[in-house]
Amino acid sequence: MTFTCTVEGCETRSTHEFTKRSYEKGIVLVQCPGCKNRHLIADHLGWFKESTEDGKLRTVEDLLRARGEKVKRGRIAEDGVVEYYED
Ligand SMILES: [Zn+2]
Repeated sequence: MTFTCTVEGCETRSTHEFTKRSYEKGIVLVQCPGCKNRHLIADHLGWFKESTEDGKLRTVEDLLRARGEKVKRGRIAEDGVVEYYED
């Protein structure tokens, strides 16, 4: 997909690849090559809803680490895409 960054003053367009399965059933985040912010594209598992409700701002890596075992089935790609889906 082509993503346009929503950060004011950045608005960099970038193209990212991820599986349809993650997009429809799991979690997808992409990293903007301009400002390096991660943007949530899909969160069907509610992980990021939970992370904002407990009042602590966590990084994607922290969140993935907290999920431990499960994360092995996802991936963090070199292009900054994070995707995960359950079997
Ligand atoms: Zn950006």
